[in-house]
Amino acid sequence: MIEVTLLGTGSPIPDPERAGPSTLARAGDQTFLIDCGRGVLQRLAAVGSGANRLSALLLTHLHSDHIADLGDVIITRWVSTFTPDSPPLPIIGPPGTAEVVQATLTAFGHDIGYRIAHHADLTAPPPVEVHEYTDGVVWDRDDVFIRVAPTDHRPVTPTIAFRIEHAGASVVLAGDTVPCQSLDTLAAGAGALVHTVIRKDLVNQLPQQRIRDICDYHSSVQEAAATATRAGVGILILTHYVPAIAAGTEDEWRALAASAFDRQIELGDDLHRVQVHPGMGVKPAS
Ligand SMILES: [Zn+2]
Ligand SMILES: [Zn+2]
Repeated sequence: MIEVTLLGTGSPIPDPERAGPSTLARAGDQTFLIDCGRGVLQRLAAVGSGANRLSALLLTHLHSDHIADLGDVIITRWVSTFTPDSPPLPIIGPPGTAEVVQATLTAFGHDIGYRIAHHADLTAPPPVEVHEYTDGVVWDRDDVFIRVAPTDHRPVTPTIAFRIEHAGASVVLAGDTVPCQSLDTLAAGAGALVHTVIRKDLVNQLPQQRIRDICDYHSSVQEAAATATRAGVGILILTHYVPAIAAGTEDEWRALAASAFDRQIELGDDLHRVQVHPGMGVKPAS
């Protein structure tokens, strides 16, 4: 079984009720954080986990809302890990990730220096190891396998989706993308597809062109649902709601998804949790 928790269901627009984009996937005794939007460590604490418990950080792309708390994850893991010679945090993302991680360490250079000077048992900067991929197998450890494939969030490029497999269960995390063949292929037969969505019908009514621009590189609820149908996934899990789901309108969002996907649909508030069991997909992986 893989357990998926929507840690943050928000978007770039600050919301008092929703943290920035971030999802937790637990597979066996391994814990993966996918993207690290604002407030992620508070939400991680709410589920009894923390930066020092992560097996790896997976980044779908380098948009600010998805990496807003990267520094917090790296620094907090460092200062809250008390075992000597602890392994570095693997950070897996698209090309550009190493540069962003290095720049983050530079931005926190003063803090890192203060702490090394103050604590005898902190003798080196936060240990991280960055792996950049656009395709292929990125993780194979203790019966957890992770593959990535490119997505289409142009002009943001490159961007990737992740497929996590464990003991027959599988979850695909699409990130921000319009429908594309490589995502369909990656998601084929998966137990669940976690997909970011925007309501183009609502966003297109807004007066600011800059906000309407986001429609051309995101999937609508219906488009994400159609992707789930083509791929034959068992559960569609929606997140990254733009605009935020207004009170009492959850059923409206669910109906839009149901217009293009007739299996289990999950959406909700931060900390919404979904269990993905083996055999939930309907189409064999190709
Ligand atoms: Zn994005
Ligand atoms: Zn986004």
